[in-house]
Amino acid sequence: MAQILDGKVVAASIKTRIKEQVSKFYFPKFPNMPRLALIKVGDDQASAIYVRRKQEACEEVGFSSLVTCLPEQVSEQELLEVIIECNQDDTVHGILVQLPLPAHIDKLKVLSSIKPEKDVDCFHPENCGLLMHNRPRFRPCTPAGILELFAYYGIQTKGANIAIVNRSIVVGEPLSVLLTNEGNATVTVCHEHTEPLDSILWFSDIIVTAVGNREKEPNPKKKFILQADMVRDGAVVVDVGINRVGNKIIGDADFEAVSKKASWITPVPGGVGPCTVAMLLWNTLEATKRTFQ
Ligand code: NAP
Repeated sequence: MAQILDGKVVAASIKTRIKEQVSKFYFPKFPNMPRLALIKVGDDQASAIYVRRKQEACEEVGFSSLVTCLPEQVSEQELLEVIIECNQDDTVHGILVQLPLPAHIDKLKVLSSIKPEKDVDCFHPENCGLLMHNRPRFRPCTPAGILELFAYYGIQTKGANIAIVNRSIVVGEPLSVLLTNEGNATVTVCHEHTEPLDSILWFSDIIVTAVGNREKEPNPKKKFILQADMVRDGAVVVDVGINRVGNKIIGDADFEAVSKKASWITPVPGGVGPCTVAMLLWNTLEATKRTFQ
């Protein structure tokens, strides 16, 4: 039976490290506490929950936050102006635009408008480039959170075959870079056209699945569920996916069945999510420290 990779425990330990740095080493002698600007567009319920969680996490470690909620119909220009204001505001150290954005807004243009030094989500092309060059300014939050989970529970990635089911700029792309460079793993990035996905997964020591949104996929054949027969005995399973089934949130894996084969598994909720938020705080701390150097 798999052991649990408990994201709440790991997030708490990251937050403890943050609080220690804030109180002991850095900020008693500096005027401004870390401040994170959170920008949300539209009425998406999940986005509202994520922004509130990030705001609460800031409060928990003594950071301040500045939340801007814009209507669904906001123009791209108006959104860019809010970001420019945050870029110019010296009391703001980190900026996060909650995704997804409405279809009429060019996501990459918006993410590229954030000042790279304040881009704590690490989506700006300059920061993605630095990550590719193995000189990251920020380690992207979800991938870095997964590496923190591995470090905390002593999961070795060196020499491991790792399959990631996702190729987005949020999860798959940056995670493959971190696992290759920092983790010394051999990584296979999988997506909808990967063939044969089952064999690649079965061959893997570690599987990271981040498909999600099963409820929005109209074609039943395309709905991805990580089944027990795709997982080899003793594999580590990291489930990033978020699927809304009725009023429940579940991951991509068939948790009960996969737990019987895996050696370690993340729960959903309570796995990768809390670590992602903790790494966002970590990056905000890093951004703040650099303004004092
Ligand atoms: P996304 O851009 O929609 O990425 C989904 C990925 O899944 C794509 O690469 C897609 O392949 C692949 N995919 C879809 N159906 C597939 C199938 N049948 N077989 C194989 N691959 C398939 O979404 P995202 O922003 O990366 O997020 C993914 C999930 O992770 C969502 O549920 C999101 O809520 C969750 N998430 C959680 C956290 C957290 O902290 N817990 C953080 C970030 C994201 P193609 O590229 O070919 O379309």
